[in-house]
Amino acid sequence: MKIQLPEDVKYIIDRLQEQGYEAYAVGGCVRDTLLGRNPSDWDITTSATPSQVKKTFERTVDTGIAHGTVTVMLEKSGYEVTTYRIDGEYEDARHPKSVTYTSSLLEDLKRRDFTINAMAYNEMEGLVDAFCGEQDLKDGIIRCVGEPRERFTEDALRMLRAVRFAAQLGFSIEENTSGAIRELSSLLSKVSAERIQVELVKLLVSPHPEELEELYTLGISRVILPEWDVMMETPQQNPHHCYTVGKHTIEVVKGVRPDKVLRLAALFHDVSKPECRSTDRAGVDHFYGHPQVGAKRTKEILRRLKFDNATIDAVCALVKGHDVNPDPQPKYVRRTLRGLGESCFPAMFELKHADIMAQSEYKQQEKLTALEKYRRLYQEIVERRECISLKGLAVNGRDLMEIGVPAGKQIGKILDALLEVVMEDPSKNTKEYLLGYTLENLFIR
Ligand code: ATP
Ligand code: MG
Repeated sequence: MKIQLPEDVKYIIDRLQEQGYEAYAVGGCVRDTLLGRNPSDWDITTSATPSQVKKTFERTVDTGIAHGTVTVMLEKSGYEVTTYRIDGEYEDARHPKSVTYTSSLLEDLKRRDFTINAMAYNEMEGLVDAFCGEQDLKDGIIRCVGEPRERFTEDALRMLRAVRFAAQLGFSIEENTSGAIRELSSLLSKVSAERIQVELVKLLVSPHPEELEELYTLGISRVILPEWDVMMETPQQNPHHCYTVGKHTIEVVKGVRPDKVLRLAALFHDVSKPECRSTDRAGVDHFYGHPQVGAKRTKEILRRLKFDNATIDAVCALVKGHDVNPDPQPKYVRRTLRGLGESCFPAMFELKHADIMAQSEYKQQEKLTALEKYRRLYQEIVERRECISLKGLAVNGRDLMEIGVPAGKQIGKILDALLEVVMEDPSKNTKEYLLGYTLENLFIR
């Protein structure tokens, strides 16, 4: 098996070998290349210690020196070069207490999580595949290196990673490995939110986000996202629906682009249906207020998972607006845009479309037609650059002061009132009209 190494990677390996060290491309890049995919980055593993690596190259950065990683900077990009290591005892199923360097490639490969991630390659030795990773790649199997129970006890995050790789590659998890996850999933409570977030997002934006169901069946979400379990268990007795909240959600996630914000919004758009559910006398379920409550809940969840504020705001705006359907008139659409914030559009239409497609056929065509009208009206508003916020108003506070309005609270009140006027009729958004209107109706000199 010959792998075409990029020039830079070859150069780094050659230089290390010239100095008498061993060096290999390792992990994800070998796996992806064997699958005929383009690796996102190339990692190198070497028998050289970090200080030896630093002596071999002109420009290096101590990125993870405590764990033996040095980034070698070449002209265009940096490459992580990590010394062969054995991870010491694990603390709190989280990180190794200590790392020990070793001169044995095999020892380094043994500490890696899955067989498909534990292969190394260089041109001198070819593929080093001590755990039949290539066969598992062919068979589409995620299997721990060594005894799964030990490996998950060392680092519980690996359980979530197993599902993440299954989702990215369309693989299935080998039985002994999945059995160990069922037993040990509660250990995930010790893993930091930051690490969980990374894996969860990779799963969500993968080609098989339906693996979300596996998080539930393996007992992982019970620990890291209990809200998901409740969704999986909540039925929807309602003519508009044909799935549980969880199954419906999976369809919506699949129905939007693999974009982080959109997929998170799809995952959480109905998060509060369980708590907002009421069943009427005819046995029909209703979920009044679930988008607003859902936005609040989503914020709590995303904060808990340590997402950044920009992501949280963008996702929550989509959750809050996913069920808003303005009457098909420009002024109502303008109001909706103002209320929800322009920035969650046009992504909102993609979420709404996926949401409708994941519902029952009842009135589906009508819903799609209404959505199309909503989208067209939105586009016209954008194309005509109609004003839907104070920013777009033809007058500002200074203009008001020039006609005699004193600085202070009154300014804001007048601007708000003028925005109302303009939202009703965009042709009124001229300085002349608005100042005249102010003097006549809003401010007595
Ligand atoms: P991606 O394409 O998502 O980056 P990757 O396989 O490169 O996939 P990384 O998280 O970047 O995944 O990790 C790089 C390599 O380090 C893995 O291929 C694996 O060999 C090893 N590894 C990473 N995390 C762990 C872990 N928690 N336990 C054991 N080995 C790990
Ligand atoms: Mg990687």
